[in-house]
Amino acid sequence: MQNNKNEQENIEKSNEQNVNKNKNKNNKKLLWIIIILIVALAGALTYFIYTKNNDEKNKIEYTELIRDMDQGKIGKVEMTIGGSSAVVTYRDENGELLDEENPENKEKLKELTKKVIIPNSQAFVELIQKKVEEGNNINFNPKEQNVLLSIGSGIITFLPTLIMIALVAVLFQMQGLGDKGKVYDPSVSVDKITFNDVAGLKEEKAEMIEIVDFLKEPKKYSKMGAKVPKGVLLCGKPGTGKTLIAKAIAGEANVPFISMSGSEFIEMFAGLGASRVRKLFEKAQKISPCIVFIDEIDAIGSRRTSNSGADTENNQTLNQLLVEMDGFETDGSVIVIAATNRPEMLDEALLRPGRFDRTITIGLPDITDREEILKIHGKNKKIAESVNLKSIAEDTAGFSGAELANILNEAAILAASKGHKEIENGDIEEAVKKVTVGLEKKDKVISEKDKKLTAYHEAGHAVVSRYLETQDNVKEVSIIPRGFAGGYTMYKTNEDKFYISKTEMEEKLIALLGGRAAEKIALNDISTGASNDLEVAMKVARDMVTVYGMSENVGPMSMNLDKDPYQIQLLGNNLEDEIGKEVRSILEKAYENAQELLRLHRDKLDQVAERLLQNEKINEQEFNEIFE
Ligand code: ADP
Ligand code: ZN
Repeated sequence: MQNNKNEQENIEKSNEQNVNKNKNKNNKKLLWIIIILIVALAGALTYFIYTKNNDEKNKIEYTELIRDMDQGKIGKVEMTIGGSSAVVTYRDENGELLDEENPENKEKLKELTKKVIIPNSQAFVELIQKKVEEGNNINFNPKEQNVLLSIGSGIITFLPTLIMIALVAVLFQMQGLGDKGKVYDPSVSVDKITFNDVAGLKEEKAEMIEIVDFLKEPKKYSKMGAKVPKGVLLCGKPGTGKTLIAKAIAGEANVPFISMSGSEFIEMFAGLGASRVRKLFEKAQKISPCIVFIDEIDAIGSRRTSNSGADTENNQTLNQLLVEMDGFETDGSVIVIAATNRPEMLDEALLRPGRFDRTITIGLPDITDREEILKIHGKNKKIAESVNLKSIAEDTAGFSGAELANILNEAAILAASKGHKEIENGDIEEAVKKVTVGLEKKDKVISEKDKKLTAYHEAGHAVVSRYLETQDNVKEVSIIPRGFAGGYTMYKTNEDKFYISKTEMEEKLIALLGGRAAEKIALNDISTGASNDLEVAMKVARDMVTVYGMSENVGPMSMNLDKDPYQIQLLGNNLEDEIGKEVRSILEKAYENAQELLRLHRDKLDQVAERLLQNEKINEQEFNEIFE
């Protein structure tokens, strides 16, 4: 297996999926427990007597309530789903809903609060929800726990219906109908995040400073007639610090930060996404000035599709988001920051003026930024003086900020478990490997046959790379299984490249296919061990032809086939065949080249493989000695 970041990303992705799956599983379990509880308790409760609060003076008729609700007089409805009554709070003469927390309002509120008997709880809930959706500003949070009480009032015949209602209530609760996003308030938080906590990203920070100023002094800008941006879109790979920088803006401006993830909007239960968006913005308006942060916005913001099936839900959510963004004033008091790794998937409507009209791309950190990130995260850790953060930064090209932070943390854990006084170079090196290829599995029993196969496979990668001008130097080769890999070849990537040449890509393919070529040459058989190598190679070759226009026969063309698969048809039917032929021939040529190199240097291949079988691991120096 070739040690590469793609593999790492795949592992990360599947971990994420597992977390989601677990969440759903837990929810289901919880649901069953609740069903059983409700059935059991409902039976018992039928014996209880339900006492009614007969405060005649404060009662109104149901029809009266409906009329007043239509006229917008009602500010708040409190009820329990399945219950037979509700408590409603009228707005005062100024149309305001009085604050219950304020003791001054106590008397007034008593007058404005009325009780009403509801003929049909479910219909009533639906009615209010409809009103709210139509824009009627009613504070409505139906409770579900008291359902048991109303069941107790002897309506045993309606038990199945009531249980259904209860379940709906529970589902709503689980969906977090009342949950309007997590709030982080820098003014009360102990670990306030500021720009000092964000390493590198100099230009990005400079742009953000402007936004901080909008939030701090919105009037300064509105007086001048300046239009303040409503939305900022941060594009970049996971772990590049998008959330961090959004939080730092909140910290610098000292305003609260409400966050929600795009995937949370569309979880499980249909029809709730839009209402969640609305609630999120309602809350934001209440606590403004503030920052609304929407992570993974592509989950809701991807291109709207035809109105069919599951997509409708997504579309509704997105439409609601657009409505909300258009709705609030451009006075800088609410700024929406969204993050995505796939800006090309977003619906164009999101990027129109007045919505996310600023896009900031955050790339992977370069060598200086990496060093700075390591410094920041090393600040409160005990690091030995011999540790050279600069050289670690050199070795970690392609790592994200999150991965670098993770490495230092893993190193600290390793150092502590080994009883070191301080974090040493070895701990960090080990942590780098742990983060990239996974944990070493020394105890795993491997058959001699598998060992030999892995040894040749890895030796193949290493030896081939050694003879390729553009490929990175080998840093370590190992046949000790780690993570999902049976072995790995690690390279010393100490250069941040801006451009990659065609030769380099071709040689990269040769190195990738070196593993399989060695299996074929030395063992005259091939194995599944190369599947990941092939996957990566396939992508490289495809990109060469379709993205970087590096193929003679297809020509200098760049297509984004993931975004627009029909593009290919536009250019004539032959193109598809041509691309297929080219990708294939590039891969076949690379495989041929890898085999040729290994045949030519068969002695080295054998030596490296032998060494690996003996010692299981070869370091840089040992590897180079073989070639001297
Ligand atoms: P994203 O939102 O882009 O996925 P995060 O902001 O959640 O990434 O980053 C995760 C963690 O990685 C942060 O909490 C921080 O510890 C670390 N990190 C990422 N980028 C940086 C950076 N530029 N400076 C310091 N730490 C960083
Ligand atoms: Zn391999």
